[in-house]
Amino acid sequence: MSFRATVLTLYPEMFPGHLGQSLAGRALERGDAVIEAVNIRDYAHDRHRSVDDTPAGGGAGMVLRPDVLAEAIDAVSPDGDERPRLLMSPRGRPLTQARVRDLAAGPGAVIVCGRFEGVDQRVIEARRLEEVSIGDYVLSGGEPAALTLLDAVIRVLPGVMGNAQSGAHESFETGLLEHPHYTRPQVFEGREIPPVLVSGNHAAIEAWRQAQSLELTRQRRPDLLDRPEAAGGPQPAK
Ligand code: SAM
Repeated sequence: MSFRATVLTLYPEMFPGHLGQSLAGRALERGDAVIEAVNIRDYAHDRHRSVDDTPAGGGAGMVLRPDVLAEAIDAVSPDGDERPRLLMSPRGRPLTQARVRDLAAGPGAVIVCGRFEGVDQRVIEARRLEEVSIGDYVLSGGEPAALTLLDAVIRVLPGVMGNAQSGAHESFETGLLEHPHYTRPQVFEGREIPPVLVSGNHAAIEAWRQAQSLELTRQRRPDLLDRPEAAGGPQPAK
């Protein structure tokens, strides 16, 4: 069964974008994942095919109309479609690797890309859209956010990453940031590969990586240590 994403957007030509390349590109070619981009404007009915209007109560910008968006959602995701409906939104819950894994284990997603000031609240409620943020900053539209989410999901689909193990130790998978990496040459501008990594002692290498991972997380993202995902891993000395 392939992962099927339907993206509702005013800019369908932005898809698959960079996902047509490399790992994701091959997954799309094989049919492991399918991305269909649908233009919200196709569901506008007035002469100008307008999809937005001025905000009730006044203020800057425009708001995506609920009737047009609802019709688009109903057309691509009729009753019985079990895919979650996501709305890319800076107000949403931050996307995590756990949610990415969860989405990848399901049948796909319907993804709404906002534009302008955002989307009328009533369609968010009426169509039970789950607001998802990719970070604490504001993009001009939901398309780069949707591409980011899809990139993260497609790379963890079965068979997409070359080495099945390569995802297991990555940042966030264990609840921690990943340890540093090194490769040849042995000496680069006077800096050596840490001797333990060329010792051949696998237990020592694993212990070094764990310690590095923990220390990096403590320095850069101490908030991760409070999350349940980190609870199973090594804990920092108090
Ligand atoms: N007025 C909105 C606010 O302050 O929350 C920002 C609207 S933004 C200019 C337009 C669209 O970009 C949003 O509707 C959303 O779809 C998308 N977007 C912007 N930042 C995002 C983020 N951090 N994560 C996910 N989507 C984002």
